[in-house]
Amino acid sequence: MRSRQWHPLNTVDRSRPETGQLVAFRHAVWRTVKVENSTLTDKDRDVWLERGMPDLDRWHQRPYKVTVAWVGGAPPEWAANGDDRKRGTIHIPAGDRQQWNVYPRGRWPQCSCCGEPVPCRGRTMSMYARLRPSSGAPKVPSRRHSGTLASALVMPSTTQSGATR
Ligand SMILES: [Zn+2]
Repeated sequence: MRSRQWHPLNTVDRSRPETGQLVAFRHAVWRTVKVENSTLTDKDRDVWLERGMPDLDRWHQRPYKVTVAWVGGAPPEWAANGDDRKRGTIHIPAGDRQQWNVYPRGRWPQCSCCGEPVPCRGRTMSMYARLRPSSGAPKVPSRRHSGTLASALVMPSTTQSGATR
């Protein structure tokens, strides 16, 4: 389905999550198991050169990856194929200014109907339907995000030991 701007309730924006935090991502809640720097790919290196070769240890836009464990909400995309792995990895390339939606208190509001983090897609859709006027463009309140996290992908963990039930 098309993804609209989604602003999960009770989250704060973080440029990079910390290990053990709960984050909202793709209408699901995930716990960050590991946050680690990635080695630079050729593409990352190009960005690094473009930015004037900043000190890698201090560069806020260096590439990194986040291992996440599914907690609740929309099932991982790979679950549609009967894959019951719960862990995945999100790769953030160099130069990407991400905004993560972090639940600062480690608690998240869950929709009682569908189990997704609030606001869930079902509810958002009906809200958009109501907001849409009979003529003219819909006025939907929007908040600018510099991040492109919505277009990032969770890839399932390749190791079987990464599977948890
Ligand atoms: Zn719902």
